Amino acid sequence: MIDMPLKDTLCNSGLLLVFTGNGKGKTTSSLGLAMRFLGHGEKVAMVQFIKGKWKTGEKEAAKLFGDLFEFHVMGRGFTWKSDDKEKDIAFAREGWQLAKDIIARGDHSLVILDELTYLMKYGMVEEQEVVDVLRGRPLHVHVAVTGRDAGKLLCDAADMVTEMREIKHHYHNGVKAGKGIEF
Ligand code: ATP
Ligand code: MG
Repeated sequence: MIDMPLKDTLCNSGLLLVFTGNGKGKTTSSLGLAMRFLGHGEKVAMVQFIKGKWKTGEKEAAKLFGDLFEFHVMGRGFTWKSDDKEKDIAFAREGWQLAKDIIARGDHSLVILDELTYLMKYGMVEEQEVVDVLRGRPLHVHVAVTGRDAGKLLCDAADMVTEMREIKHHYHNGVKAGKGIEF
């Protein structure tokens, strides 16, 4: 058994955690963190960008935690099959504004910004602005950012960056997105 000192207080300086890369596991890793915080009775907020309004396991599960888990979906589906780019951009920016408000409030121990990297990649928000906001957050707030192609400025500003590397994905064997596994 590994003998490690256990602290019963949360790390009092918030960390910036980035989950990126092409392999599967970015969003689900952030949800794993959420479970841990919630288990300690700590508040979590998650803002999901890009994704549409369809029912997902995480959105339904969040309801079970009541006020402890604030959950927002701020997307209209994936941009490359969008019917209206302007609407996508407006909604993405609205989502980013909401995320900034949540962070500034400092009510949550963990704020998850799921797929935020795409907003930067597609120029919907400036990476420098994101970094400035995240750097200026209340000291105790941990932030987890997920999404492919995390930029250099964000990674430089982060305390931890994990790149998920795909070795295999069931999709290539024709397995469709599945309940519990993908949503
Ligand atoms: P998860 O939400 O399962 O943790 P993720 O956040 O790492 O995955 P995203 O890049 O957000 O993955 O992609 C969304 C979904 O697309 C994932 O649920 C995943 O199963 C699927 N996916 C990931 N990698 C691939 C791939 N190489 N080919 C096809 N689909 C993929
Ligand atoms: Mg994801």
